[in-house]
Amino acid sequence: MSTHEWSVDELRRWGTTALQALGDFVEGSRRGEGRPVKLRDIEVLVDELDLTRRLREGGLDHAGFTAFLDRFLAGATSLHHPGYMCHQVAVPHFAASIADLVSGVLNNGMSVYEMGPTASACERAVIQWMLGKVGWDDAAGSGGAGVLTHGGSLANLTALLAARARAFPQAWEQGTPPEAVVLAPPASHYSISRAVAIMGLGTAALQPLPVDRLGRLRPDEAAQAIERAVHEGRAVMAVCANACATATGLYDDLTAVGAACRAHDLWLHVDAAHGGSALVSPRERHHLAGLEHADSLVWDAHKLLQTSTLCAGVLTRRRGDLSAAFRQQASYVMDENQRIGVDVMEHQVECTKAPLGLKLALVLSVTGDAGMARHLETLVDLTRRAQGRIAARPGFEVLCDPESNILCFRHAGDDAHNSQLRQALLADGRFHLSQADVDGHRWLRITLMNPGTDEAVIDALLDTIETLAAGSSAAEA
Ligand SMILES: *Cc1c(COP(=O)(O)O)cnc(C)c1O
Repeated sequence: MSTHEWSVDELRRWGTTALQALGDFVEGSRRGEGRPVKLRDIEVLVDELDLTRRLREGGLDHAGFTAFLDRFLAGATSLHHPGYMCHQVAVPHFAASIADLVSGVLNNGMSVYEMGPTASACERAVIQWMLGKVGWDDAAGSGGAGVLTHGGSLANLTALLAARARAFPQAWEQGTPPEAVVLAPPASHYSISRAVAIMGLGTAALQPLPVDRLGRLRPDEAAQAIERAVHEGRAVMAVCANACATATGLYDDLTAVGAACRAHDLWLHVDAAHGGSALVSPRERHHLAGLEHADSLVWDAHKLLQTSTLCAGVLTRRRGDLSAAFRQQASYVMDENQRIGVDVMEHQVECTKAPLGLKLALVLSVTGDAGMARHLETLVDLTRRAQGRIAARPGFEVLCDPESNILCFRHAGDDAHNSQLRQALLADGRFHLSQADVDGHRWLRITLMNPGTDEAVIDALLDTIETLAAGSSAAEA
């Protein structure tokens, strides 16, 4: 008789129940049932789910789990709902979801090869695939390196550590020189300034590059600013560019900035957490022209490559640059027989890491390059059509032509009016969108992650905004 505390039968029964319930949830969401977002007080939810008692007493059985899951799903945000257009988080492909289940059972926590040989093989293949899309693979004669991390924020930190190792090889032992600076557009994701602060430079070391009113680098002025920093003798650790910027979805021109970096042997880091996926599309990859000048790149698969959270790639053009990021020895996990590129731990912040590569490996195994390109292009096309619908509607204004699947727009009125609209939409729950401050104004911001968000959904959103706006002006009168 087994002395285990739970039986394999329970794994099968709970798993079958969960997959059934999740299938129903996705199906209902796709049909537009329920609301994509239902914001309620967190204490009420802790009570409703009876969590305090459950955690103390234990004893949940299959029937209890079934009831719990129903309640849990009823309060969950649904990315599968066509009204979901909020954050840059993928509507996961079923193959990614299944990968999470497989990984959760195996728990092949990676950092050393022996803890997950097949998971490591998936990560290696996925990294080679990414390097190939960038043009940094062995086939291109470049021989780049890469690693998967838990998200773009950690990936940006990793890339900047690699930049630091190149600019200041003594920094790992002696700390970052106090005069070090990082040049970046102010529209950079906040994880860049966090990384700079975490590395001990202080956010004052982050110096803004000149941008236009939409927050894009001004190519010539940015190149001149780089030249000026060099001539003034500044200790430039890295130059950053966005591909694309989080708020607007607009790509920086990498060519001029990249040439200035090459001329002075400065590290160019391209934050392509969101927009790197355009590389899969022969039609859209021109947005990243000039990428060949970059030294490092961050590319999230859990945004536009349909994987569940998290799965982010950090890539460097030269293989040695990535291992230089972490110059450290830990004898209990690293031994002299370690094989570079097989044991990934020397390339990552994490010690134990989830087998992130399996998700993208499985999704790509279903879609192939062509299917993935189609997915990306579908979302970009939807965004252009949404722009057309919004721009044609009196009382609405669009910020700019979209280059990705992100679009900012406003309803006639001031910033406070648009903020109130976003709050009212959140409370209503039929449409989930975000907001952004660009060009001195507050904008409503949609990110079309869901291929089910068609023009009818956009029209319904605009109708709802008009109704909410009429309601609030009636309330004020
Ligand atoms: C989303 C995003 C990030 C952060 O990535 P996470 O995976 O959410 O940590 C960084 N940079 C840019 C440009 C992004 O769009």
